Amino acid sequence: MRLALDQAGLAARGGDVPVGAVVLSPDGTTVLGAGHNEREATGDPTAHAEVLAIRRAAAALGEWRLTGCTLVVTLEPCTMCAGAIVQSRVDRVVYGARDDKAGAAGSLWDVVRDRRLNHRPEVVEGVLAAECARPLTEFFRGR
Ligand SMILES: [Zn+2]
Repeated sequence: MRLALDQAGLAARGGDVPVGAVVLSPDGTTVLGAGHNEREATGDPTAHAEVLAIRRAAAALGEWRLTGCTLVVTLEPCTMCAGAIVQSRVDRVVYGARDDKAGAAGSLWDVVRDRRLNHRPEVVEGVLAAECARPLTEFFRGR
């Protein structure tokens, strides 16, 4: 989560909402992909931290299935990212702060654990939640 928080800091520097993510290898020792929000920086509406980290991890593995991998993200994933998580087959999602306005991993929706879908990763929430929420609060206070 500290690595994801470092990524969140990079997002804020570029004027993006400070959210960061990393994808860890199945044994948890290697960062396969990292990302931070780049919507403002790139003008790409899909450039969320999780999507970018998943894309980079898949590119590193040369394989779209991230079976056994863990996605760690500072903020609860939105519906788009929850979809990407299900599609990538990561086995675990760890997030920090809840997103009561747009969260799709237990708050507003629970897309990642929807029993109608064929893949449901384990979800661990609230890891370093206060530390993950702080840059977001500061970012939006400054707006
Ligand atoms: Zn998202």
